[in-house]
Amino acid sequence: MATNSKHITIVGAGLAGGLLATLLAQRGWSVDVFERRGDPRKHGYAGGRSINLALAERGLHALRQAGADGEVLKRAVMMRGRMVHPLHGTPSLQRYGRDDSEVIWSIDRGELNISLLDAAESHGARLHFDRRLDHVDFNARIATFKGDAADHPHPFNTLIGADGAGSTLRGLMAPLVALNERSEWLDHGYKELEIPPANDGGFRIEANALHIWPRGHYMCIALPNDERNFTVTLFMPHEGAYPSFATIKTGDDAQAFFERDFPDTLPLIPELREDFEANPTSMLGTLYLDCWHLDNRALLIGDAAHAMVPFHGQGMNCAFEDCVALADMLDQHDDLTAAFTAFETLRKPDAEAIQQMALENYIEMRDKVDDAQFLLQRELELALQARHPERFIPHYTMVTFMRIRYSLALKRSEIQRHILEDATRGLDSLNGVDWDAADAAVMEQLQPL
Ligand SMILES: Cc1cc2nc3c(=O)[nH]c(=O)nc-3n(C[C@H](O)[C@H](O)[C@H](O)COP(=O)(O)OP(=O)(O)OC[C@H]3O[C@@H](n4cnc5c(N)ncnc54)[C@H](O)[C@@H]3O)c2cc1C
Repeated sequence: MATNSKHITIVGAGLAGGLLATLLAQRGWSVDVFERRGDPRKHGYAGGRSINLALAERGLHALRQAGADGEVLKRAVMMRGRMVHPLHGTPSLQRYGRDDSEVIWSIDRGELNISLLDAAESHGARLHFDRRLDHVDFNARIATFKGDAADHPHPFNTLIGADGAGSTLRGLMAPLVALNERSEWLDHGYKELEIPPANDGGFRIEANALHIWPRGHYMCIALPNDERNFTVTLFMPHEGAYPSFATIKTGDDAQAFFERDFPDTLPLIPELREDFEANPTSMLGTLYLDCWHLDNRALLIGDAAHAMVPFHGQGMNCAFEDCVALADMLDQHDDLTAAFTAFETLRKPDAEAIQQMALENYIEMRDKVDDAQFLLQRELELALQARHPERFIPHYTMVTFMRIRYSLALKRSEIQRHILEDATRGLDSLNGVDWDAADAAVMEQLQPL
Protein backbone atom coordinates (compact mmCIF):
# COMPACT_ATOMS: atom_id res chain seq x y z
CA MET A 1 0.00 0.00 0.00
CA ALA A 2 1.30 3.41 -0.96
CA THR A 3 0.60 5.10 2.37
CA ASN A 4 3.02 3.40 4.75
CA SER A 5 5.26 5.81 6.62
CA LYS A 6 8.42 4.93 4.66
CA HIS A 7 6.74 5.64 1.35
CA ILE A 8 7.50 8.70 -0.72
CA THR A 9 5.96 9.93 -3.96
CA ILE A 10 8.11 12.12 -6.19
CA VAL A 11 6.57 14.32 -8.87
CA GLY A 12 8.98 14.75 -11.81
CA ALA A 13 11.64 12.33 -13.00
CA GLY A 14 13.99 15.07 -14.17
CA LEU A 15 17.40 15.67 -12.62
CA ALA A 16 16.44 16.13 -8.96
CA GLY A 17 13.62 13.57 -9.11
CA GLY A 18 15.87 10.86 -10.54
CA LEU A 19 18.64 11.46 -8.03
CA LEU A 20 16.38 11.74 -4.99
CA ALA A 21 14.58 8.52 -5.97
CA THR A 22 17.95 6.74 -6.01
CA LEU A 23 19.16 8.14 -2.69
CA LEU A 24 15.91 7.26 -0.91
CA ALA A 25 15.49 3.82 -2.49
CA GLN A 26 19.07 3.06 -1.36
CA ARG A 27 18.00 3.91 2.18
CA GLY A 28 15.08 1.51 2.13
CA TRP A 29 12.29 3.92 1.21
CA SER A 30 9.52 2.70 -1.02
CA VAL A 31 9.58 5.25 -3.86
CA ASP A 32 7.12 6.07 -6.65
CA VAL A 33 8.10 8.65 -9.26
CA PHE A 34 5.61 10.18 -11.70
CA GLU A 35 6.80 11.93 -14.86
CA ARG A 36 4.65 13.74 -17.39
CA ARG A 37 6.90 12.81 -20.31
CA GLY A 38 7.46 9.41 -21.87
CA ASP A 39 10.34 7.14 -20.86
CA PRO A 40 13.40 8.71 -22.56
CA ARG A 41 15.04 5.29 -22.71
CA LYS A 42 12.30 4.11 -25.06
CA HIS A 43 11.25 7.21 -26.96
CA GLY A 44 14.38 9.40 -26.86
CA TYR A 45 14.88 12.40 -24.61
CA ALA A 46 12.19 15.01 -25.16
CA GLY A 47 14.38 18.01 -24.33
CA GLY A 48 14.72 20.11 -21.22
CA ARG A 49 15.86 23.57 -20.27
CA SER A 50 19.24 23.27 -22.02
CA ILE A 51 20.99 20.62 -24.10
CA ASN A 52 24.03 20.35 -21.88
CA LEU A 53 25.07 21.46 -18.42
CA ALA A 54 28.19 22.10 -16.37
CA LEU A 55 28.60 19.64 -13.51
CA ALA A 56 30.74 20.81 -10.60
CA GLU A 57 31.87 19.39 -7.26
CA ARG A 58 28.55 19.78 -5.45
CA GLY A 59 26.69 17.84 -8.12
CA LEU A 60 29.47 15.32 -8.49
CA HIS A 61 29.49 14.67 -4.77
CA ALA A 62 25.75 13.96 -4.87
CA LEU A 63 26.21 11.60 -7.82
CA ARG A 64 28.95 9.80 -5.85
CA GLN A 65 26.48 9.27 -3.00
CA ALA A 66 24.12 7.63 -5.48
CA GLY A 67 26.91 5.59 -7.10
CA ALA A 68 26.09 7.27 -10.43
CA ASP A 69 29.25 9.36 -10.92
CA GLY A 70 31.19 6.75 -12.90
CA GLU A 71 28.50 6.30 -15.54
CA VAL A 72 28.00 10.05 -15.90
CA LEU A 73 31.68 10.97 -16.07
CA LYS A 74 32.32 8.40 -18.81
CA ARG A 75 30.55 10.66 -21.29
CA ALA A 76 31.44 14.03 -19.79
CA VAL A 77 33.87 16.49 -21.36
CA MET A 78 36.33 18.20 -19.03
CA MET A 79 36.35 22.01 -19.05
CA ARG A 80 39.52 23.49 -17.54
CA GLY A 81 38.49 27.10 -17.76
CA ARG A 82 36.84 29.76 -19.81
CA MET A 83 38.21 30.41 -23.28
CA VAL A 84 37.52 34.07 -23.83
CA HIS A 85 37.06 35.21 -27.45
CA PRO A 86 37.45 39.00 -27.71
CA LEU A 87 35.98 40.74 -30.76
CA HIS A 88 39.51 41.61 -31.89
CA GLY A 89 42.50 39.55 -30.84
CA THR A 90 43.35 36.02 -29.90
CA PRO A 91 41.25 33.80 -27.63
CA SER A 92 42.83 33.07 -24.26
CA LEU A 93 42.15 30.44 -21.60
CA GLN A 94 41.42 31.60 -18.04
CA ARG A 95 41.76 28.53 -15.86
CA TYR A 96 39.01 27.96 -13.30
CA GLY A 97 41.27 26.34 -10.72
CA ARG A 98 44.89 25.66 -9.96
CA ASP A 99 45.22 22.44 -11.99
CA ASP A 100 43.20 19.57 -13.48
CA SER A 101 41.89 18.63 -10.05
CA GLU A 102 39.80 21.81 -10.24
CA VAL A 103 37.73 21.52 -13.41
CA ILE A 104 34.06 21.32 -14.36
CA TRP A 105 32.39 18.81 -16.66
CA SER A 106 30.08 19.33 -19.60
CA ILE A 107 27.35 16.72 -19.63
CA ASP A 108 24.41 15.98 -21.87
CA ARG A 109 21.13 16.55 -20.00
CA GLY A 110 19.37 13.63 -21.68
CA GLU A 111 22.18 11.16 -20.98
CA LEU A 112 22.44 12.33 -17.38
CA ASN A 113 18.70 11.97 -16.90
CA ILE A 114 18.78 8.44 -18.31
CA SER A 115 21.68 7.44 -16.03
CA LEU A 116 19.69 8.70 -13.04
CA LEU A 117 16.54 6.84 -14.08
CA ASP A 118 18.55 3.63 -14.50
CA ALA A 119 20.09 4.13 -11.06
CA ALA A 120 16.72 4.81 -9.44
CA GLU A 121 15.14 1.76 -11.01
CA SER A 122 18.07 -0.49 -10.15
CA HIS A 123 17.56 0.43 -6.49
CA GLY A 124 13.88 -0.45 -6.63
CA ALA A 125 12.14 2.89 -7.29
CA ARG A 126 8.96 2.54 -9.38
CA LEU A 127 8.91 4.97 -12.33
CA HIS A 128 5.61 5.94 -13.95
CA PHE A 129 5.94 7.76 -17.28
CA ASP A 130 3.29 9.69 -19.19
CA ARG A 131 1.75 10.63 -15.88
CA ARG A 132 1.26 14.37 -15.36
CA LEU A 133 0.25 15.60 -11.92
CA ASP A 134 -3.10 17.27 -12.33
CA HIS A 135 -4.70 17.73 -8.91
CA VAL A 136 -4.23 16.73 -5.28
CA ASP A 137 -6.66 16.11 -2.46
CA PHE A 138 -4.33 16.93 0.43
CA ASN A 139 -6.86 15.87 3.08
CA ALA A 140 -7.52 12.44 1.63
CA ARG A 141 -3.85 12.27 0.48
CA ILE A 142 -4.70 11.34 -3.08
CA ALA A 143 -2.76 12.77 -6.03
CA THR A 144 -4.32 12.39 -9.46
CA PHE A 145 -2.12 12.02 -12.51
CA LYS A 146 -3.34 12.25 -16.08
CA GLY A 147 -2.07 10.06 -18.89
CA ASP A 148 -3.29 7.67 -21.56
CA ALA A 149 -6.52 9.67 -21.70
CA ALA A 150 -7.41 8.67 -18.14
CA ASP A 151 -7.13 9.84 -14.53
CA HIS A 152 -4.79 7.84 -12.30
CA PRO A 153 -5.47 8.44 -8.59
CA HIS A 154 -2.52 7.63 -6.36
CA PRO A 155 -2.78 7.49 -2.54
CA PHE A 156 0.31 9.07 -1.03
CA ASN A 157 2.03 9.41 2.29
CA THR A 158 3.97 12.52 1.27
CA LEU A 159 4.68 14.30 -2.03
CA ILE A 160 8.00 15.71 -3.14
CA GLY A 161 7.75 18.27 -5.92
CA ALA A 162 10.75 17.84 -8.21
CA ASP A 163 8.67 19.07 -11.12
CA GLY A 164 10.84 22.00 -12.11
CA ALA A 165 10.48 25.76 -12.42
CA GLY A 166 6.85 25.61 -13.59
CA SER A 167 5.93 23.18 -10.78
CA THR A 168 2.31 22.01 -10.76
CA LEU A 169 2.61 20.82 -7.18
CA ARG A 170 3.66 24.33 -6.11
CA GLY A 171 0.51 25.75 -7.68
CA LEU A 172 -1.62 23.15 -5.89
CA MET A 173 0.03 23.86 -2.51
CA ALA A 174 -0.43 27.62 -2.85
CA PRO A 175 -4.03 27.84 -1.56
CA LEU A 176 -3.06 25.91 1.60
CA VAL A 177 0.23 27.47 2.63
CA ALA A 178 1.64 31.00 2.35
CA LEU A 179 4.26 30.38 -0.32
CA ASN A 180 4.28 34.04 -1.39
CA GLU A 181 5.64 33.14 -4.80
CA ARG A 182 7.63 35.82 -6.65
CA SER A 183 9.23 35.28 -10.05
CA GLU A 184 11.72 37.88 -11.19
CA TRP A 185 12.10 37.50 -14.91
CA LEU A 186 15.33 38.61 -16.46
CA ASP A 187 14.87 41.02 -19.35
CA HIS A 188 17.36 38.83 -21.25
CA GLY A 189 16.57 35.48 -22.87
CA TYR A 190 18.51 32.79 -24.66
CA LYS A 191 18.60 30.76 -27.84
CA GLU A 192 20.61 27.61 -28.53
CA LEU A 193 22.67 27.07 -31.69
CA GLU A 194 25.19 24.42 -32.70
CA ILE A 195 28.81 24.04 -33.73
CA PRO A 196 28.83 20.60 -35.38
CA PRO A 197 31.88 18.28 -35.41
CA ALA A 198 34.63 19.00 -37.95
CA ASN A 199 34.76 17.02 -41.21
CA ASP A 200 37.29 14.63 -39.67
CA GLY A 201 34.89 13.97 -36.76
CA GLY A 202 36.88 15.99 -34.21
CA PHE A 203 36.06 19.17 -32.29
CA ARG A 204 36.23 22.39 -34.30
CA ILE A 205 37.61 24.45 -31.41
CA GLU A 206 39.38 23.68 -28.13
CA ALA A 207 37.40 20.85 -26.54
CA ASN A 208 38.34 21.23 -22.89
CA ALA A 209 36.98 24.69 -22.25
CA LEU A 210 33.79 26.64 -21.79
CA HIS A 211 33.95 29.21 -24.58
CA ILE A 212 32.71 32.75 -24.02
CA TRP A 213 32.30 35.59 -26.49
CA PRO A 214 31.66 38.51 -24.08
CA ARG A 215 30.17 41.60 -25.71
CA GLY A 216 29.08 43.89 -22.88
CA HIS A 217 25.29 43.60 -22.69
CA TYR A 218 25.12 40.23 -24.38
CA MET A 219 27.26 37.19 -25.06
CA CYS A 220 27.57 33.74 -26.59
CA ILE A 221 28.87 30.72 -24.75
CA ALA A 222 29.63 27.21 -26.03
CA LEU A 223 29.91 23.94 -24.09
CA PRO A 224 31.43 20.80 -25.65
CA ASN A 225 29.52 17.54 -26.06
CA ASP A 226 30.97 14.06 -26.25
CA GLU A 227 29.63 13.78 -29.83
CA ARG A 228 32.34 16.36 -30.67
CA ASN A 229 29.87 19.18 -31.26
CA PHE A 230 29.27 22.26 -29.13
CA THR A 231 26.00 23.69 -27.90
CA VAL A 232 26.18 27.46 -28.34
CA THR A 233 23.89 29.69 -26.29
CA LEU A 234 23.26 33.29 -27.26
CA PHE A 235 22.09 35.45 -24.33
CA MET A 236 20.76 38.94 -25.05
CA PRO A 237 17.89 41.31 -24.18
CA HIS A 238 14.40 40.34 -25.31
CA GLU A 239 13.42 43.93 -26.12
CA GLY A 240 15.01 47.28 -26.76
CA ALA A 241 17.64 48.70 -29.07
CA TYR A 242 19.82 46.59 -31.35
CA PRO A 243 20.93 43.95 -30.60
CA SER A 244 17.91 42.27 -28.98
CA PHE A 245 15.64 39.40 -29.87
CA ALA A 246 13.07 42.04 -30.84
CA THR A 247 15.43 43.57 -33.40
CA ILE A 248 17.06 40.35 -34.63
CA LYS A 249 14.25 38.12 -35.81
CA THR A 250 15.17 36.34 -39.00
CA GLY A 251 18.04 34.11 -40.03
CA ASP A 252 19.37 36.93 -42.21
CA ASP A 253 19.27 39.34 -39.24
CA ALA A 254 21.21 36.76 -37.22
CA GLN A 255 23.78 36.34 -39.98
CA ALA A 256 24.39 40.11 -40.13
CA PHE A 257 24.58 40.34 -36.32
CA PHE A 258 27.09 37.49 -36.07
CA GLU A 259 29.16 38.98 -38.94
CA ARG A 260 29.41 42.17 -36.89
CA ASP A 261 29.82 40.81 -33.35
CA PHE A 262 30.87 37.16 -33.47
CA PRO A 263 32.71 36.91 -36.83
CA ASP A 264 34.98 34.04 -35.72
CA THR A 265 31.94 31.85 -35.00
CA LEU A 266 30.47 32.14 -38.50
CA PRO A 267 32.55 29.38 -40.11
CA LEU A 268 31.80 27.24 -37.03
CA ILE A 269 27.98 27.51 -37.11
CA PRO A 270 26.99 26.49 -40.65
CA GLU A 271 23.27 26.28 -39.83
CA LEU A 272 23.11 29.66 -38.09
CA ARG A 273 20.25 31.03 -40.21
CA GLU A 274 18.13 27.88 -39.96
CA ASP A 275 18.80 27.24 -36.23
CA PHE A 276 18.15 30.85 -35.30
CA GLU A 277 14.72 30.70 -36.90
CA ALA A 278 13.82 27.16 -35.79
CA ASN A 279 15.00 27.19 -32.16
CA PRO A 280 12.91 28.86 -29.47
CA THR A 281 13.89 32.00 -27.58
CA SER A 282 13.50 31.06 -23.92
CA MET A 283 12.97 33.02 -20.74
CA LEU A 284 15.18 33.13 -17.64
CA GLY A 285 14.13 33.99 -14.14
CA THR A 286 14.61 33.61 -10.40
CA LEU A 287 11.89 32.09 -8.25
CA TYR A 288 11.52 33.06 -4.59
CA LEU A 289 9.19 31.41 -2.08
CA ASP A 290 8.71 32.12 1.62
CA CYS A 291 8.08 28.48 2.37
CA TRP A 292 8.85 25.20 0.63
CA HIS A 293 6.61 22.72 2.45
CA LEU A 294 3.07 21.97 3.55
CA ASP A 295 3.45 20.31 6.98
CA ASN A 296 4.28 16.63 6.42
CA ARG A 297 2.28 16.35 3.19
CA ALA A 298 4.36 18.06 0.53
CA LEU A 299 7.79 19.57 -0.06
CA LEU A 300 9.36 21.35 -3.04
CA ILE A 301 12.99 20.83 -4.08
CA GLY A 302 15.28 21.91 -6.93
CA ASP A 303 13.92 24.37 -9.48
CA ALA A 304 10.38 23.92 -8.15
CA ALA A 305 11.55 25.64 -4.94
CA HIS A 306 14.25 28.02 -6.13
CA ALA A 307 14.80 28.25 -9.91
CA MET A 308 17.71 30.54 -10.76
CA VAL A 309 19.37 32.07 -13.81
CA PRO A 310 22.04 29.76 -15.27
CA PHE A 311 25.08 32.03 -15.12
CA HIS A 312 26.91 30.24 -12.34
CA GLY A 313 26.10 26.80 -13.80
CA GLN A 314 24.74 25.81 -10.39
CA GLY A 315 20.97 25.19 -10.73
CA MET A 316 21.35 21.44 -11.13
CA ASN A 317 24.31 21.31 -8.75
CA CYS A 318 22.20 23.04 -6.12
CA ALA A 319 19.21 20.76 -6.84
CA PHE A 320 21.49 17.74 -6.37
CA GLU A 321 22.77 19.17 -3.09
CA ASP A 322 19.12 19.52 -2.03
CA CYS A 323 18.62 15.79 -2.65
CA VAL A 324 21.56 14.81 -0.42
CA ALA A 325 20.47 17.25 2.29
CA LEU A 326 16.89 15.95 2.21
CA ALA A 327 17.99 12.32 2.38
CA ASP A 328 20.16 13.25 5.41
CA MET A 329 17.25 15.02 7.11
CA LEU A 330 15.00 12.04 6.54
CA ASP A 331 17.69 9.85 8.14
CA GLN A 332 17.85 12.13 11.15
CA HIS A 333 14.12 12.75 11.78
CA ASP A 334 11.36 10.15 12.02
CA ASP A 335 8.76 12.87 11.79
CA LEU A 336 8.33 14.21 8.23
CA THR A 337 7.30 17.71 9.30
CA ALA A 338 10.48 17.95 11.37
CA ALA A 339 12.59 16.65 8.47
CA PHE A 340 11.02 19.08 5.97
CA THR A 341 11.35 22.01 8.37
CA ALA A 342 15.01 21.21 9.05
CA PHE A 343 15.66 20.83 5.32
CA GLU A 344 14.07 24.17 4.52
CA THR A 345 15.88 25.94 7.36
CA LEU A 346 19.21 24.60 6.15
CA ARG A 347 18.77 25.05 2.41
CA LYS A 348 16.77 28.25 1.98
CA PRO A 349 19.60 30.68 2.85
CA ASP A 350 21.91 28.71 0.58
CA ALA A 351 19.48 28.70 -2.33
CA GLU A 352 19.01 32.46 -1.95
CA ALA A 353 22.78 32.98 -1.88
CA ILE A 354 23.42 31.05 -5.09
CA GLN A 355 20.46 32.77 -6.75
CA GLN A 356 22.11 36.11 -6.00
CA MET A 357 25.56 34.93 -7.11
CA ALA A 358 24.07 33.56 -10.35
CA LEU A 359 22.58 36.94 -11.19
CA GLU A 360 25.87 38.69 -10.41
CA ASN A 361 27.82 36.24 -12.56
CA TYR A 362 25.93 37.25 -15.72
CA ILE A 363 27.52 40.68 -15.54
CA GLU A 364 30.92 39.11 -14.91
CA MET A 365 30.63 36.74 -17.88
CA ARG A 366 29.25 39.13 -20.47
CA ASP A 367 31.07 42.29 -19.43
CA LYS A 368 34.09 41.73 -17.22
CA VAL A 369 36.02 38.65 -18.29
CA ASP A 370 38.03 40.62 -20.87
CA ASP A 371 38.44 43.70 -18.69
CA ALA A 372 41.96 44.57 -17.50
CA GLN A 373 40.91 45.46 -13.94
CA PHE A 374 39.00 42.19 -13.61
CA LEU A 375 42.03 40.22 -14.82
CA LEU A 376 44.30 42.05 -12.39
CA GLN A 377 41.96 41.18 -9.52
CA ARG A 378 41.96 37.51 -10.63
CA GLU A 379 45.76 37.60 -10.57
CA LEU A 380 45.74 39.06 -7.07
CA GLU A 381 43.16 36.49 -6.00
CA LEU A 382 45.58 33.70 -6.91
CA ALA A 383 48.49 35.49 -5.22
CA LEU A 384 46.51 35.94 -1.99
CA GLN A 385 45.38 32.33 -2.16
CA ALA A 386 49.05 31.27 -2.37
CA ARG A 387 49.94 33.50 0.60
CA HIS A 388 46.91 32.49 2.72
CA PRO A 389 45.68 29.13 1.42
CA GLU A 390 43.47 28.54 4.47
CA ARG A 391 41.87 31.95 4.44
CA PHE A 392 41.68 33.44 0.95
CA ILE A 393 39.88 31.10 -1.42
CA PRO A 394 38.77 32.55 -4.76
CA HIS A 395 35.02 33.04 -5.17
CA TYR A 396 34.73 30.66 -8.11
CA THR A 397 36.62 27.97 -6.20
CA MET A 398 34.31 28.20 -3.17
CA VAL A 399 31.21 27.88 -5.33
CA THR A 400 32.48 25.35 -7.83
CA PHE A 401 35.14 23.14 -6.32
CA MET A 402 34.10 23.11 -2.68
CA ARG A 403 30.96 22.17 -0.79
CA ILE A 404 30.96 24.91 1.82
CA ARG A 405 27.53 26.44 2.21
CA TYR A 406 26.61 28.83 -0.59
CA SER A 407 25.63 31.40 2.04
CA LEU A 408 29.13 31.26 3.52
CA ALA A 409 30.71 31.45 0.05
CA LEU A 410 28.66 34.58 -0.65
CA LYS A 411 29.64 36.22 2.65
CA ARG A 412 33.35 35.51 2.19
CA SER A 413 33.24 36.53 -1.50
CA GLU A 414 31.87 39.95 -0.57
CA ILE A 415 34.69 40.50 1.95
CA GLN A 416 37.25 39.30 -0.57
CA ARG A 417 35.89 41.56 -3.31
CA HIS A 418 36.49 44.60 -1.12
CA ILE A 419 40.02 43.47 -0.31
CA LEU A 420 40.75 42.96 -4.03
CA GLU A 421 39.23 46.32 -5.00
CA ASP A 422 41.14 48.19 -2.28
CA ALA A 423 44.46 46.53 -3.12
CA THR A 424 44.27 47.13 -6.89
CA ARG A 425 42.76 50.62 -6.94
CA GLY A 426 44.65 52.77 -9.45
CA LEU A 427 47.07 49.97 -10.37
CA ASP A 428 47.64 48.23 -13.70
CA SER A 429 49.90 45.48 -12.37
CA LEU A 430 50.55 43.70 -9.09
CA ASN A 431 53.86 45.59 -8.71
CA GLY A 432 52.33 48.43 -6.75
CA VAL A 433 50.27 46.28 -4.38
CA ASP A 434 50.67 47.14 -0.69
CA TRP A 435 51.15 43.56 0.44
CA ASP A 436 51.32 44.41 4.13
CA ALA A 437 47.91 46.06 3.97
CA ALA A 438 46.42 43.26 1.87
CA ASP A 439 47.82 40.56 4.18
CA ALA A 440 46.55 42.42 7.24
CA ALA A 441 43.06 42.72 5.72
CA VAL A 442 43.00 38.99 5.00
CA MET A 443 44.18 38.07 8.51
CA GLU A 444 41.69 40.41 10.13
CA GLN A 445 38.59 39.74 8.03
CA LEU A 446 38.81 36.10 6.92
CA GLN A 447 38.88 33.26 9.41
CA PRO A 448 40.56 30.02 8.26
CA LEU A 449 38.12 27.73 6.45
C1 LIG B 1 19.93 27.56 -20.37
C2 LIG B 1 20.17 26.84 -19.06
C3 LIG B 1 21.42 26.36 -18.78
C4 LIG B 1 21.66 25.71 -17.57
N1 LIG B 1 22.93 25.29 -17.31
C5 LIG B 1 23.19 24.72 -16.10
C6 LIG B 1 24.51 24.29 -15.80
O1 LIG B 1 25.44 24.43 -16.61
N2 LIG B 1 24.75 23.72 -14.58
C7 LIG B 1 23.74 23.58 -13.67
O2 LIG B 1 24.03 23.08 -12.56
N3 LIG B 1 22.49 23.97 -13.92
C8 LIG B 1 22.18 24.53 -15.13
N4 LIG B 1 20.90 24.91 -15.41
C9 LIG B 1 19.86 24.73 -14.39
C10 LIG B 1 19.26 23.34 -14.45
O3 LIG B 1 18.74 23.11 -15.74
C11 LIG B 1 18.14 23.20 -13.43
O4 LIG B 1 18.50 23.76 -12.21
C12 LIG B 1 17.80 21.71 -13.21
O5 LIG B 1 17.29 21.17 -14.41
C13 LIG B 1 16.78 21.56 -12.08
O6 LIG B 1 16.41 20.22 -11.95
P1 LIG B 1 14.95 19.84 -11.47
O7 LIG B 1 14.93 18.36 -11.41
O8 LIG B 1 14.60 20.63 -10.28
O9 LIG B 1 13.98 20.33 -12.65
P2 LIG B 1 13.88 19.79 -14.14
O10 LIG B 1 15.19 19.32 -14.62
O11 LIG B 1 13.20 20.89 -14.91
O12 LIG B 1 12.91 18.53 -14.04
C14 LIG B 1 11.53 18.64 -13.79
C15 LIG B 1 10.83 17.36 -14.27
O13 LIG B 1 9.49 17.37 -13.84
C16 LIG B 1 8.65 16.98 -14.92
N5 LIG B 1 7.32 17.58 -14.67
C17 LIG B 1 6.97 18.88 -14.79
N6 LIG B 1 5.68 19.05 -14.47
C18 LIG B 1 5.20 17.82 -14.15
C19 LIG B 1 3.91 17.35 -13.75
N7 LIG B 1 2.86 18.17 -13.61
N8 LIG B 1 3.76 16.03 -13.49
C20 LIG B 1 4.82 15.16 -13.62
N9 LIG B 1 6.06 15.56 -14.03
C21 LIG B 1 6.24 16.88 -14.27
C22 LIG B 1 9.37 17.53 -16.15
O14 LIG B 1 8.94 16.88 -17.34
C23 LIG B 1 10.82 17.24 -15.79
O15 LIG B 1 11.20 15.94 -16.18
C24 LIG B 1 20.62 25.55 -16.63
C25 LIG B 1 19.35 26.03 -16.92
C26 LIG B 1 19.12 26.67 -18.12
C27 LIG B 1 17.74 27.22 -18.40
